[in-house]
Amino acid sequence: MSRTILVLGAGIVGVSCALALQQRGFAVTLLDRKEPGRETSYGNAGVIGRSSLVPLNNPGLYAKLPGYLGNRHPALHLDWRRALTSPGWMLRFLWEGRASQAAARIAAMDGLTATAVTRHRALMQQAGISHRLRETGTLKLWRSEAGLASARAEQELLKAHGIESEILDRQGISALEPSLNPIFPTGLFIAANGSFDSPGAVTAGYAALFVARGGTLIREEVGSLRREGALWRIQTAQRMYEASDVVIALGPWSADLLRPLGLDPKLDVERGYHRHFAAGDGARLSRPVYDVDAAYFMTPMEEGYRVTSGVDLSLRDAPDQLRQIESVTQSAREAFPLGGMLGKTWRGARPTLPDSLPMIGAAPGHQGLWLAFGNQHLGFSTGPMTGELLAALLNGEAPPIDPKPYAPGRYIR
Ligand SMILES: Cc1cc2nc3c(=O)[nH]c(=O)nc-3n(C[C@H](O)[C@H](O)[C@H](O)COP(=O)(O)OP(=O)(O)OC[C@H]3O[C@@H](n4cnc5c(N)ncnc54)[C@H](O)[C@@H]3O)c2cc1C
Repeated sequence: MSRTILVLGAGIVGVSCALALQQRGFAVTLLDRKEPGRETSYGNAGVIGRSSLVPLNNPGLYAKLPGYLGNRHPALHLDWRRALTSPGWMLRFLWEGRASQAAARIAAMDGLTATAVTRHRALMQQAGISHRLRETGTLKLWRSEAGLASARAEQELLKAHGIESEILDRQGISALEPSLNPIFPTGLFIAANGSFDSPGAVTAGYAALFVARGGTLIREEVGSLRREGALWRIQTAQRMYEASDVVIALGPWSADLLRPLGLDPKLDVERGYHRHFAAGDGARLSRPVYDVDAAYFMTPMEEGYRVTSGVDLSLRDAPDQLRQIESVTQSAREAFPLGGMLGKTWRGARPTLPDSLPMIGAAPGHQGLWLAFGNQHLGFSTGPMTGELLAALLNGEAPPIDPKPYAPGRYIR
């Protein structure tokens, strides 16, 4: 029997899986309740983070925690109701940050990000949307003189992974980004990072490529799935679909369909917000900037200057908590002459597993069920490699990178 594959979720991860499977000759159907790239894959900071190797839960987090727990720092907000609802996840998230795990987790992130720019460049060419890719790097900025030591430490880490960077002083920062106000004594320019002017449009462009190559894209809400004999039956609001293989790429919603099957992938979320702004007269940025002390990215986007917030550890569907985005809006105004706000505040949820690595591969004990989610802060960067690895595993090929760090079996027994 030839294999028919249903990919659930048309964010960057699902679309990347669908393209990689299609390239291997499979008949693939991609299903989402919305248009492709309208959720987390729309609202992110648009950075291809080649250099983002250290996850939030790293050994340095422990020292910062006391400062975060009062919910006065914009980098992190903790809703205690959430902590009490899933204390196990929180404790495991903290435990995975211990020093003995750091090198292995960084190596695993490196495996996913090393080819991120090249993979996106190739896909964007094929999709005819290369104009949306900026290869102008990113600029990390510190407000205090103490930032120099952090910039040096980061430069060393990046060098160890073959990533070049340049430490800049006030003049160097101003030469690179003349419109920034001179409040940053130290910067770290990382040329290897890329960025997009619209992550949602890039995802939609990849989905259009999938359709142009003969793939089927369906807009329906999935209610449930179950295995009957050799097939999976997928129930949507409209009808029932059958497939030999199902890929769960539902981002922050992935666990919703797995729990009824008795699978708990230990997936939770780190929420985040963005706002768009006009720029003041003649002001412009040529690349995303990250203000370390104030904890926000500011990225030039098609819709305006997008300011994204830090991590909101509230329950996935709890009402907005706007304190962080309000705080970073104010900080961004100190750094750059932002004009009026354009549109509304957006909220999304980074899908995160306790070790901050995605789950990519076969679901233990469930033939034909494949998992591709949990890409946390870096899903846009790691989406294409996630798709390649998933497709290689499903097709029984030698995987392009060691799949062990992302194996579903580390949380699903
Ligand atoms: C504020 C913020 C900033 C970020 N910045 C960056 C960045 O700069 N660089 C980077 O690489 N990453 C960044 N990320 C992370 C990145 O956006 C995510 O990791 C990535 O988008 C996850 O993609 P996904 O395909 O897994 O999920 P999603 O894009 O959320 O896709 C999941 C899809 O599943 C669909 N779906 C859910 N349930 C159902 C159902 N029952 N039936 C049908 N369809 C369903 C949804 O409609 C959605 O389209 C950021 C995230 C946030 C929140």
